[in-house]
Amino acid sequence: DWVWALVRGKVTEWQDRKPIRMIGTHIDITQHKRAENRIRYLAHHDPLTDLPNRALLAERAAMALALASRHQNTLAILFFDLDGFKDINDSLGHEAGDVLLKHVAVRLKGILREVDTLARLGGDEFIVLLPDVGRNGAAQVADKTLTLLREPVELGGHRLAVTSSIGISLYPHDGASFETLLKNADTAMYRAKHEGRNRFKFYDTRMNAEILDRLILLAALRKGIQTGQLRTHFQPKARLADGAVVGAEALVRWHHPEQGLLLPDRFIPMAKETDLIVAIGEWVLEDVCRHLTAWRDAGLPELTVAVNLAARHFREPGLADHLATVLARHDLSPARVELELTESTLLDVGPETRTAIESLRKIGFHLVIDDFGAGYSSLVYLKNLPFSSLKIDQSLVRGLETDANDRAITEAMVALSHIMGLTVVAEGVETERQCQILLEQGCEFVQGNLLSSPLPAEDFVRWAVDRGGQIRRRAAAI
Ligand code: C2E
Ligand code: MG
Ligand code: MG
Repeated sequence: DWVWALVRGKVTEWQDRKPIRMIGTHIDITQHKRAENRIRYLAHHDPLTDLPNRALLAERAAMALALASRHQNTLAILFFDLDGFKDINDSLGHEAGDVLLKHVAVRLKGILREVDTLARLGGDEFIVLLPDVGRNGAAQVADKTLTLLREPVELGGHRLAVTSSIGISLYPHDGASFETLLKNADTAMYRAKHEGRNRFKFYDTRMNAEILDRLILLAALRKGIQTGQLRTHFQPKARLADGAVVGAEALVRWHHPEQGLLLPDRFIPMAKETDLIVAIGEWVLEDVCRHLTAWRDAGLPELTVAVNLAARHFREPGLADHLATVLARHDLSPARVELELTESTLLDVGPETRTAIESLRKIGFHLVIDDFGAGYSSLVYLKNLPFSSLKIDQSLVRGLETDANDRAITEAMVALSHIMGLTVVAEGVETERQCQILLEQGCEFVQGNLLSSPLPAEDFVRWAVDRGGQIRRRAAAI
C-alpha cells in the first residue's frame, strides 16, 4: 500500500495521446496518507466506543435523508441515554462509566443492520439512525434496545442492571432535516424520562408546548419561592391506641398568582429535576421551625413535624450539619423534626446517602421511610440504617377492606418493621374500618383524611386544640 507523490516530472513517451512513460522526482508519502486517514477517522469517531460521532452521523443522515426523499421512504431516529448514568459515574467512578458505555456500543451493534448507524453524541447520549424504517420497525428496535441494555453488566464488582430511555422521531412525519429530527427525538426522550424512564416514546407535536409550559411554570416557581408564595399545610398524625395527636406532616402548597392553590403533584416532580427542590426543602424547614417555636411559645404540647426530603438534598454536601444549624437557630431540638425519605430516594443516591443518614440520626433527627409498598418494598435497604419508623403507602391502605392480599402484605410489613425496631404509620387512612384492621395488625399511628386533610397552620392548631380537650385551656394564648 505505498502511496507516492510526484514532485516534478516530464512525460517522455506517449501512445494514443496518453502518457506511458515519464521521468521525474517522486517521494514516498505513505506515512502522510496513513496519518491523514487516521486524522479523518478520529475526526469522525468517538475514541472511547469507536462509534461514529456527531459529524459522521450528520453526514450519513444527510445521505439517508436524500435517499429517503427521492424514494419516498421513511426513516427513524432513536435518541437514547442511560437512566441515572451520572449516579454510576459518581458512585463507581468514571472508569466504570466508560466500561458501561463500551458495553452499550458492543451490545447494540449486535442487533442493528449493516445500513443502520449507531453513534455516540457524547456523555451517555446515543443515536440510532434507521434508514427505510417506519413506526413499527422503530418501535421494535426501541423495544429490543431497552431489553438488551437492561441485562446486568459487571461494573466495579457489582452486577448492575441499567435501564435507558428512548425518544423516536420519524421522517418525514416529524421533520425534514436531521437537526429537526434530532431535536424532536431528544424532546421525546425527555418525555420518556419524565414518564418514569425505562421506556420509549414517539415524538408528538404537543410535546414542545408541554415543555414550554413547564419552563414557564419553573420560572414562576423560582420567583414564587423568593416572593413568599409557598405555604405549608399540616396533616395531623394520631396514635391509634388512644387517638392522641402526636404530630403532623408538613406538605407544601403553592399559591400561584393566576392558577390559585397548586398541590405538590403539579410542581414537586418538576422541581425534583432541578435545584428548586432543595430551595423548597429549605423553605419548608424554615417555615416548620417558625411554627414549632410559635406553638411552643403559645404553650401547646410538643408535637413532632415531618418534613419530606428528596434525593437531591442528599447530593448537597454537609446536609446533616446544615439542617442541624437551622434547628439550632430556632432553638429547637432536632428530635422535633422527622425527615421522610421515599424508597426511590434511597435507590437514587447511592452509598454516600448512608453516611448522611447516619449523621442525621446521630444529630438527633428521626428518619422515616415514606410511601413504603409503592415501589420496590425492599427492607434490605433499611437494614442497618437508623430509621425510626415506616409509613405504609396509601395504595396498600386503600385495599385493606377489600383485598386480602393487601391485608396480608400490611400485616407482614408491620410484623417485620417491629422486628427491625421501627414503628409503623399508615397513610391515606379514610375509613373507620381501615383503622380497625390496622389496629388489629399492630400498626401504631395513622394519618389520613379520616382524621383530617392537610390544613393551613392556623386551622391545624384550632383542629388540634378542639380535639385534645386537655389543651383547650391554653388555646386562648394563641
Ligand atoms: P407524601 O409525603 O406521601 O404525603 C402524603 C400525601 O397523601 C399528601 O398529598 C396528602 O395530602 C395525601 N393524603 C393524606 N391523607 C389522604 C387520604 O386520606 N386520602 C388521599 N387520597 N390522600 C391523602 P400531597 O399533599 O398532595 O403531597 C403529595 C406528595 O408531594 C407527598 O407525598 C410528598 O411526596 C410530596 N411533597 C409534599 N410536600 C413536599 C415537600 O415539602 N418537599 C418534598 N420534597 N416533597 C413534598
Ligand atoms: Mg411524606
Ligand atoms: Mg407518603
